[in-house]
Amino acid sequence: MVDESLLKRELFQGEPVYGYRGAMLDVSRHFFGADEVRRLLDIMYRLHLNKFHWHFADDQGFRIALKAYPRLEEIATKRSFTYYGGFHKKNFRDNTPHAGFYTEEEVRDLVAYATERGIEVIPELGMPGHSSALIAAYPELSCSGEQIEVPGNFGVLENTLCIGNDDAMRFVEGLLLALADLFSAKTFHIDFDEVRLTHLEICPKCQAKMKELGTNRIEDLKLYAKNLFRDSLKRRNIKVIVYNDGMDAADTSVICFHWDSRDQLGEKTVQWINDGQQTIIANCEYLYMDYPYVKTPFKKTYGFNPVLNGVNKPENIIGVEAPLWTESVTSHAKLAFNAYYRLAALAEIGWFGENRRPYSEFMKWLYENEAYLFGEKLNIPEHILNPNPSRLLQIEEKCLMEDMDCELEDAKKALF
Ligand SMILES: [Zn+2]
Repeated sequence: MVDESLLKRELFQGEPVYGYRGAMLDVSRHFFGADEVRRLLDIMYRLHLNKFHWHFADDQGFRIALKAYPRLEEIATKRSFTYYGGFHKKNFRDNTPHAGFYTEEEVRDLVAYATERGIEVIPELGMPGHSSALIAAYPELSCSGEQIEVPGNFGVLENTLCIGNDDAMRFVEGLLLALADLFSAKTFHIDFDEVRLTHLEICPKCQAKMKELGTNRIEDLKLYAKNLFRDSLKRRNIKVIVYNDGMDAADTSVICFHWDSRDQLGEKTVQWINDGQQTIIANCEYLYMDYPYVKTPFKKTYGFNPVLNGVNKPENIIGVEAPLWTESVTSHAKLAFNAYYRLAALAEIGWFGENRRPYSEFMKWLYENEAYLFGEKLNIPEHILNPNPSRLLQIEEKCLMEDMDCELEDAKKALF
């Protein structure tokens, strides 16, 4: 049962503006165990956030040990190194092995824990890109069939599931349905973003499948796979979510997850929303919780308007979500520092929409209530949350080019 002391939630009155108010945790890049997930669910409960998007499978690790798929635990749940390069710019190879997974029982327990708190768990399976850990366990699922290691480097990697291989697609469909059962899922996120086409373009099976489909557009091959998995989940009355860049037109039989606000994808999503596409808004420039505060100041997040420019059917925007990618988030302290205040901001945006409190009033409430909301006092000072331009210049290079943890270190210095 839910602890009565958690019921002090008088702030959130009436009906929320957005029915879907979500938080995502990536446990593939760095693993966080059941206790950390439970702590996050408690915070979500106090903030009236009602969708927990669980990103448990990506290139760098598959974090559920399914008994029927023993090579997942044996191979896909661990990697031998982590390379902090690319976007995260540390250019540092850490040869410490990284491993971790949930048992089936832990998943069931956490789903029950969330359900008791009115939170729906939405699992996500990374595919057909972002699936290298799965491919390391079952290499026959990829176009080349080559044995690979679970990668320790981040970014958009080359390997993909072989869409032209009917046996591989059947295997993935079986895995997807086994996961849907384990989670008792009502909604499932099937990814489809950042798919490298290199392997698909030269794979004889993928080329033959395109011929069979009567197309020479590689996008159609992706859509064929998306529709295949969408339909098998739909047959079980499970709603399906796809990233905006996994769709090349409105598909009103799925929910679009709009994360990328940086280019023409934003314009596409606006068109689809106006055409009737149900959409969850998670604009990276405002709502990604792994971004340092020098890149996305807290005030910018708090001021976010989910109704994208040009949208004339805002009722099709069904919700908002703040994702926490964990390439650079390696500890509880960093997780709390990056995510907790932003979750509170998201809760306010999701519940009150444009009628949210002025920033200063919200901050006063946040500082007064954070021990209750988060189970700990973070006391992150304003000058870290919203760096002034000179400070920004001073630390930007250090934070973005060298060490993503430097803000946390600065905050510690300010506090102790
Ligand atoms: Zn292929």
